Amino acid sequence: MDDLPSGSGEPPDATANSPAGKSRSQPTTQPLSRYESQKRRDWNTFLQYLKNHKPPLTLSRCSGAHVIEFLKYLDQFGKTKVHVTGCAYFGHPNPPAPCACPLKQAWGSLDALIGRLRAAYEENGGQPESNSFGARAVRIYLREVKDSQAKARGIPYEKKKRKRAGGSASGATERAENTSVDGGGSGGGEDGGTSGNISSNEVAPVTSTV
Ligand SMILES: [Zn+2]
Repeated sequence: MDDLPSGSGEPPDATANSPAGKSRSQPTTQPLSRYESQKRRDWNTFLQYLKNHKPPLTLSRCSGAHVIEFLKYLDQFGKTKVHVTGCAYFGHPNPPAPCACPLKQAWGSLDALIGRLRAAYEENGGQPESNSFGARAVRIYLREVKDSQAKARGIPYEKKKRKRAGGSASGATERAENTSVDGGGSGGGEDGGTSGNISSNEVAPVTSTV
């Protein structure tokens, strides 16, 4: 490109005089789409992560394991509550009260992120066969995250097997009559409610408002 001295080439008011309605004065640099700008941001985030990595890591030496490490690192910025298996709300899609379970990145976010990084890697000169974002280990990791989050949040999950949380450990065999009330873990539904279920104890469910 050569810089023209200003005002030499063409009469300056040829375009300036045009009526305001039809002015082509705006060079229409088309703005990046949401996806593109997000992709660029993600890519920069990843490069920054590599830069700060200890020991130092370059893109060419970045493996699928490093990508997974990156995804785990992102969990600290997550906003999705993922219940641990010991939590009373494990498997509840809408827990009635807060709990202390950690926030993580939702599976869908990670999956979309990997898709963008994978594309960005090749757009920035990376070879498809060395694209660690498409590595098998990464796919497996994403799948594990998906499955575990599906379970933790109560989304129907294919496996039918259901473990009872420590039921038969002590000698509690004799009381198996009706008292299945305090089994905190199992997601037993509330059927009916008030129509005389609990006969042995007269514990009225008083909701003591504190
Ligand atoms: Zn929880």
